[in-house]
Amino acid sequence: MYAKVIVDISNNEVDKIFDYYTGDLSIEPGCRVVVPFGSRQIEGYVMDIMDVSDCPPEKIKQIERRSDDYPVITKEMLSLMRFMCDQYHLRAIDALRLFIPSQMREGKVKELNKKYVTVNPDIDDPRSLIKPSASMQLNAYDYVRNRGEVSLSELNANCSAASVRNLIMRDIFRVKDIEIKRTPYKDLVVNDNGVKLTDDQQAVVDRVMSIDGKTFLLHGVTGSGKTEVYMHCIAKTLEKGKTAIMLVPEISLTPQVLASFRARFGSRVALLHSGLSAGERFDEWRRLLSGEALVAVGARSAIFAPLKNVGIIIIDEEHDGSYTSESNPRYVTSEVAEFRKSYNNCNIILGSATPSIESYYKAMNGEYELLELKNRINNRPLPEISIVNMCNEIYNGNNGIFSAQLENELYNCIGSGNQAIIFINRRGYSSYVMCRACGYVAKCEQCDVSLVYHKEENALKCHYCGNTYKMLSGCPNCGSDQIKRGFVGTEQVAEKLGEMFPDETVLRMDNDTTQNKNAHLSILQRFASKEAKILVGTQMIAKGHDFPDVTLVGIVDADMSLHFADYRSVERTFQLITQVAGRAGRNKKSGKVILQTYSPNHYVYKFAVNGDYKHFYEKECNLREVTKFPPFTKIVRVLVSGESEADVARILQGIYESLKASNINFVFLNYMWAPVRVIKNMRRAQILIRMAQSDRMTDIYRIIDEHASQKVKIFVETNPNSLS
Ligand code: ADP
Ligand code: ZN
Ligand code: ZN
Repeated sequence: MYAKVIVDISNNEVDKIFDYYTGDLSIEPGCRVVVPFGSRQIEGYVMDIMDVSDCPPEKIKQIERRSDDYPVITKEMLSLMRFMCDQYHLRAIDALRLFIPSQMREGKVKELNKKYVTVNPDIDDPRSLIKPSASMQLNAYDYVRNRGEVSLSELNANCSAASVRNLIMRDIFRVKDIEIKRTPYKDLVVNDNGVKLTDDQQAVVDRVMSIDGKTFLLHGVTGSGKTEVYMHCIAKTLEKGKTAIMLVPEISLTPQVLASFRARFGSRVALLHSGLSAGERFDEWRRLLSGEALVAVGARSAIFAPLKNVGIIIIDEEHDGSYTSESNPRYVTSEVAEFRKSYNNCNIILGSATPSIESYYKAMNGEYELLELKNRINNRPLPEISIVNMCNEIYNGNNGIFSAQLENELYNCIGSGNQAIIFINRRGYSSYVMCRACGYVAKCEQCDVSLVYHKEENALKCHYCGNTYKMLSGCPNCGSDQIKRGFVGTEQVAEKLGEMFPDETVLRMDNDTTQNKNAHLSILQRFASKEAKILVGTQMIAKGHDFPDVTLVGIVDADMSLHFADYRSVERTFQLITQVAGRAGRNKKSGKVILQTYSPNHYVYKFAVNGDYKHFYEKECNLREVTKFPPFTKIVRVLVSGESEADVARILQGIYESLKASNINFVFLNYMWAPVRVIKNMRRAQILIRMAQSDRMTDIYRIIDEHASQKVKIFVETNPNSLS
């Protein structure tokens, strides 16, 4: 027999399938094996078993051994791999690597076995074999006999290790290996006060469970109880003997969320996310593969959970940008979900208070079925949003960060013992530093971007490569000491709040304060326990959190995401405002939101203030249709990057000419330097394409392959999150 094997090397030259003899090993598709490759031995994955091979027999080598005693890639994942290779132009091995825990490759993580000792049951009177004078041995013997089974480490800690060894050697004691599964957040306990669904929630659950093979878009306002709907659907799916996948954005995947799923589903839940240790991840993954766990809860990559017979896939906050993988290998989570849906004939629920325009468009066209939760639980009102025109503030002589109204509301809120969330989607102290005299702007030496001032470290930082530079004392260009700072960031807002409320703790949550593993959780816990009354943060604070005493949300600079040169910037602004505002007034107390803007008449604010998603959608959708943007077209970006500007330009131009000469029907086709022209010393240029939704990517991929070169990297993305 011959096995078709993909070897674990990521390199264009070896993106092929190799034939190996199976010898007398029992091998099936999906097995991980060790094979000779050139002069080395490497790991590979068996795709198929054949009776014949086209290779000349003298060239075929034999598989060395199996790496595991079970196949690690299921049949479904093998076909998913083929789908992803076509759809995203991936190398097979890059797709496969997504499917198994990375540390498992090259044996960096192993089962955790513990040795247990019992008395040999085949001996009649074992105690009589021990000399009465050997009191330490008798001691050890009694210790084990009284307990039946003792871990070797416990036994050695309590009895003489030499005696234990002696008894094992004489076969009076038997030792066996028992695997211990590592469980993440083992000690976290949450009571499950299983609620009774509202009629609206029940109707959604009933509809989802009444049919198979459908994608639902669940549009539920913030606080409408979507999580409870998900859990009921999962429970009903398990009753049918099927399994479930529950995805949430990484940032809202707090241990509380995990704990509430475990409280409901016990050890049937397995968690997959980046905060786990390698051992925990490996064990949770194997519990899913073996069928011991039936519900996978995790961030984006949990869509690859090795479950069989999937009955439902839930993607919460479906509009979230983190569901599109931006680094290689690129994939779109909902597309992978659609593949698994077809394979398993299961349902998908995409849930959000602010669905992406693309998803809502599909719901309007019948590709998805729209389900709605229009009210908050207990009919709590949505928070009242007031718009403050910051131009008037300046006119009235207020150049500060906060408008008079936000300042007043802050004093009211904190004074009455409530809590406030202040949102500013920019980290650091100020967005750039500039010389007033000559216009010099401090830039990164390796990237073509301006540096951000971080006051705490008194340093300038590059947000693209992470490089840190000394803060300027004067202009390096003209010597002037008139250094101006740009837009405010979280650090400056927190500092200002500290001055306003000297007796209060102000928490700050952004990329800089959440570098440590548990920092994110600890900030949220300190806020939940009311140790601090004020939380300042970037979009990290916008998602999913439920704090009953938050009565005020301040949006310092709502326009920030509005003026990006990106077709999604208005949609993002609407989503962010709705999500952040949704943090206010979730419990008995009502909530207020102050939204500061320099463009108070922009349509996005009118719709956001009224919580009017539908009319926002109609307006936005119309605009996209007229201007020919997604969902009416597909945007494709071909990004070429490399060390030499000349190579990048030449190859980009070549691709562009070939595209122009092809018979693809472009709505738009142009090439240019990327907005951020250099990152980490790599020159970057791009081709932007808009083409019909229905056009396939195959021709584009073929052209790119023709121009491939060792000198540059070429990335292709459809509808990218960022065009910088
Ligand atoms: P969403 O995800 O839609 O923003 P959540 O799922 O966080 O909303 O629910 C909001 C709050 O309502 C939570 O505190 C949740 O425990 C509570 N809740 C959900 N469903 C019910 C119900 N049927 N009865 C009472 N409380 C509920
Ligand atoms: Zn200067
Ligand atoms: Zn940089």
